[in-house]
Amino acid sequence: MDELEMFGAALGLTAPWVAVSVKFDETERRLDIELGFARGSRFGCPQEGCGELACAVHDTLDKSWRHLDFFEHQAFLSAKVPRVRCTEHGVHLVKVGWARPGSGFTMLFEVALLTYAKQMPVAPLAAMARVHDTRVWRVLEHHVATARAGVDFSEVTQVGMDETSARRGQDYVSVFMDLAERRVLFATEGRDADTVKQFAADLAAHGGAPRTQLDQVCCDMSPAFIKGVREHLSEQGDDDVETTGHCPQIVFDRYHVVAKANEAVDEVRRAEAKTRPELKRTRYAWLKNEANLTAKQREQLAWLTRPSMQLQTARAARWRDDFNGFYNQPTPTDAEAYLRSWCYRAKRSRLQPIKDFVRLVEAHWDGIVAWTNTRISNGLLEGTNSLIQTAKRRARGYRNKQKMITIIYLIAGKLPLPQIHTI
Ligand SMILES: [Zn+2]
Repeated sequence: MDELEMFGAALGLTAPWVAVSVKFDETERRLDIELGFARGSRFGCPQEGCGELACAVHDTLDKSWRHLDFFEHQAFLSAKVPRVRCTEHGVHLVKVGWARPGSGFTMLFEVALLTYAKQMPVAPLAAMARVHDTRVWRVLEHHVATARAGVDFSEVTQVGMDETSARRGQDYVSVFMDLAERRVLFATEGRDADTVKQFAADLAAHGGAPRTQLDQVCCDMSPAFIKGVREHLSEQGDDDVETTGHCPQIVFDRYHVVAKANEAVDEVRRAEAKTRPELKRTRYAWLKNEANLTAKQREQLAWLTRPSMQLQTARAARWRDDFNGFYNQPTPTDAEAYLRSWCYRAKRSRLQPIKDFVRLVEAHWDGIVAWTNTRISNGLLEGTNSLIQTAKRRARGYRNKQKMITIIYLIAGKLPLPQIHTI
């Protein structure tokens, strides 16, 4: 095997393609591999569905592709790519095995970009690859879109919806997860009922039946999501309570319900802090899980909850802790009885934010109780949040939310992206 044969084998070239020259430029730190084919070679017609395998070469176009670096050398492939004449389809540029049509990168290079983009932010990746970042984004967007186009969502029955702000308190992105497969199905800008409409359309575009296929939808108690589910993910439509068409069970995510209880505690604290300065800067001590408290916060809390302090905030926190007991009941029946008793007592708490929380619970009763039936894993939607934080870091420096969404699909869509062994 000579040097050219070795490069050809390393690139996985198939007949009639061979490596015809290898140039190594020390000063430019550049490796150039020129590919070619023997005079008189014939090629298959590139038109979809055409079976013509032996088209004659009409002319050639000069093409080149950036390839994986060869140690510290940037590597390029180049070739005169033939345009062939098919008796049926006319003159077309042939497809080459090492790159997709129109790309200036070899497939191996693109797969490397995809692989690294799952692990590191795009800006440093582009710098490391010595490629302009817009070209990196184009590769990621292309492969994500292509892979998404081919996936089937018709078996999905449990969906979790969550929203997050891309920047502090604004620019929302809504994410729809397949809870059984733990993958992101759909992500879009915004957080209103229209995002659910878009999700329904996307589900239909992927072989789904949005109004009939879902058994459960897990979400927070935002009226927009609830409205969106009724209007776009069930057969019942708007306010047509008479129909008995399919409607998925709405399950309110534990994480979001507990967050509302915590908000009630904090509301009590903020009001009380006006007359009790010792409550200032104690927010996290009241809201964190006990296991996550620092030693100092633990001490602070022990001091603030002494009976002699007589703090309303301490009472509110106890109501909150009691509420959380609902999630630890052994059976759904026990859980519902527990919650009924808790609501009955908490209504008499003489703490307005706690009483407001009771009303919220009662207004969303079925969906809150449903959580204990369905045993949807608690960490799932919390997981979305860490996923989105990761996507934010990967897309740091890019304000376009579509870029963040591309990364969300890339790292959590479980998409059939090209890998080394598939090319
Ligand atoms: Zn043809």
